Amino acid sequence: MVRKWMYLLVCTIVLATTIFTGTSLAAEPAEYDNEMDSKMVIHFIDVGEGDCTFIDFGEYEVLIDAGSNMAGETVVDYIEPYVDGSLDLVIATHVHHDHIGGMDDVLKAYDVKEIIHSGDTYNTQSYLDFYDAVLAEPNCMYTEDEDRIIDMGNGATLRIIDGIDGSENINDNSVIALLEYGVTKVLFTGDLEESGEAYYLNLLEPVQVLKVGHHGSATSSGTNFLSVVNPQIGIISAGYANNSIHPHIRAMRRLFQAETELYGTFKVGCIVMTLDGESYSLNTSQTLQYADAGIYHIIREFEGEVWK
Ligand SMILES: [Zn+2]
Repeated sequence: MVRKWMYLLVCTIVLATTIFTGTSLAAEPAEYDNEMDSKMVIHFIDVGEGDCTFIDFGEYEVLIDAGSNMAGETVVDYIEPYVDGSLDLVIATHVHHDHIGGMDDVLKAYDVKEIIHSGDTYNTQSYLDFYDAVLAEPNCMYTEDEDRIIDMGNGATLRIIDGIDGSENINDNSVIALLEYGVTKVLFTGDLEESGEAYYLNLLEPVQVLKVGHHGSATSSGTNFLSVVNPQIGIISAGYANNSIHPHIRAMRRLFQAETELYGTFKVGCIVMTLDGESYSLNTSQTLQYADAGIYHIIREFEGEVWK
């Protein structure tokens, strides 16, 4: 609590300085507000091409992925005002660098009580750095994803849904997590692709918010999957003008046909969602349109190939 008051004081000073100098604070985290103690805030942090979501609920904090190596310090700095003591839970959805690359920085900067992972190992430097940091983390449980319900306090839960393990497609081994707070459900699927979505069709249910799988790639968010989870809102984390065709216009089309409103970190930066158990709100009203699809496909659109 002392840290939060300190942060409030610093924010006040910074805000006063900002008004005086007329500069913008757009890149800074949302200001801490005491009244937010009763609310849950989900930060979809802009880490460029990669994934990083931070859930702040009173004194319980969860980090899902930490972006690439380059994003580590950004993540550490962004979450600093919100972390009360230690990070209660870190989820490493899978072993690709755009999800675990920044995690060694996070583990060095914060005490972490538990890390839930996909069960895979990997022969990349990003993974080795991550795993070295895990081994160096004192009193930290390192747990493979299994069916369980994690109590976040005040009626909020995070359900881990065990599914695919050991697939050759590393993306399909992603940790699947369903956040439930009051009537609001938020689903996190890492980089799960359509090939893996099929496994979960009988295990999932309609949600209000979907953290769109695999940065909105063409091979995720299949029609069958969307007909089950039927999200009102989809959040896409991807880098501005990335080389990976994220989000892909075909995935966007399926999401639009499911009447899902889309938002992207590559378009508006960090997306902050506030939940009170009955409703939720976003810090932006700038939705994605087809013109926001991966740049490669904008080029193809001009060539008349886009709907193939
Ligand atoms: Zn990814």
